[in-house]
Amino acid sequence: MIVKENLTNLIKSLPKEVVLVAVSKTKSIYDIQEAYDSGQRIFGENKIQEMVSKYDELPKDIQWHMIGHLQRNKVKYMAHFVSLIHGVDSFKTLKEIDKQAKKHNRVIYCLLQAKIAQEESKFGLSFKEIEKILASAEFENLKNIKVVGLMGMASFSSNIKQVDEEFQSLKVFFDKLNIIKPSILSMGMSDDYKTAIKNGSNMIRVGSAIFGERNYIV
Ligand SMILES: *Cc1c(COP(=O)(O)O)cnc(C)c1O
Repeated sequence: MIVKENLTNLIKSLPKEVVLVAVSKTKSIYDIQEAYDSGQRIFGENKIQEMVSKYDELPKDIQWHMIGHLQRNKVKYMAHFVSLIHGVDSFKTLKEIDKQAKKHNRVIYCLLQAKIAQEESKFGLSFKEIEKILASAEFENLKNIKVVGLMGMASFSSNIKQVDEEFQSLKVFFDKLNIIKPSILSMGMSDDYKTAIKNGSNMIRVGSAIFGERNYIV
């Protein structure tokens, strides 16, 4: 029952406009079912194959969000059901998503991932690259994707001031950007979602604070 309790307390604490993505990567069908039975319908996964097998087993009114780094050759496996892709970090990937969405005669909603963290390891586009993509004629021609916002991950750091500044920089850029409003600003995880919300996040991706720590050795 711990999942239900964590989820209920978390949702109670959130402002109404903030959408919660329950990050269920590495977690079992049973854990997800418990969250589902508590009313949660949006789940996030970071591996395409894992998301596909969970999609196959779980209720079909779940909205599955892909939050991880994308391997282009695997986009095809989720194109028929994925509800939002958070981590689009290249124009090539966007084109592949468009191509696969077209095969299923649907439009796939995407967020462009901005690189806001100092760390080398974090994926993402620079603000300049994002502006360039959105302004390009080739982008205009992609009819089977729709960019509905941005996603960003702050540095993995206990320096709250740094995390705060990184989120803030993305919010400032997001507000200037010429995308259809209302749009999504996906930022914040278990350790930093409060700072993210303070800086204007309207979608948070929370895993361990709901499901407990992940055990990668399973
Ligand atoms: C794993 C993951 C999360 C959730 O992390 P927690 O610290 O468990 O809340 C959020 N976003 C992305 C992109 C992730 O990979």
